Amino acid sequence: MSTLTDEERAERRAHSRRATERARAIVKPGDMLTFTRCGGHSRGRFTGWDGWWMCSPTRSDISALCVFKLNGAWVTFADEGHWDPHLGDPRRDLDVMSFDPFFPDETDTTLLSDTMGLASKWHDCAICGGRIWGGERIRRRVERINEGRPRVMTFRFCPLCCQAMAASWTDDGKAITERTALGVKRSQTVAEGSA
Ligand SMILES: [Zn+2]
Repeated sequence: MSTLTDEERAERRAHSRRATERARAIVKPGDMLTFTRCGGHSRGRFTGWDGWWMCSPTRSDISALCVFKLNGAWVTFADEGHWDPHLGDPRRDLDVMSFDPFFPDETDTTLLSDTMGLASKWHDCAICGGRIWGGERIRRRVERINEGRPRVMTFRFCPLCCQAMAASWTDDGKAITERTALGVKRSQTVAEGSA
């Protein structure tokens, strides 16, 4: 349901057009696009423009604002500092995603996927141990653990830990170290409680 005012809707449209102009200057037919769509992500090879829309062999309604990877590399055509709360901020996502949450853990793992998106239901954060609520924008990382009995694990990171990961590039990791310490403390409390 849309609760935007006429001005907000007009500004959103103008922003979308600016994003389109930026995309037109860069994206070439044959390029691989990764973009958000209702409820998830999708990928498709760019075939051309249909007015303001980007087209792939199966879609003709891709907004330049929704594109977050171009040929596998992070990209955004959005205005600097101007982002859609539902889609998130691709520049900030880049800062979050380039942080390795498990460094220097040397467990032999294969990364299967690493994405930003909306949580579908509640989970516990893999760093701070805090609660993630459905609808919150989180990082979700799926890994295959190759040691011992091979198994696939999904790790989710709460909005505050995502913020701390993004901040790690400018605060020397101070915020994320605090979040990690919080998680260690929480897990110890749980261990003591169950002992
Ligand atoms: Zn957290």
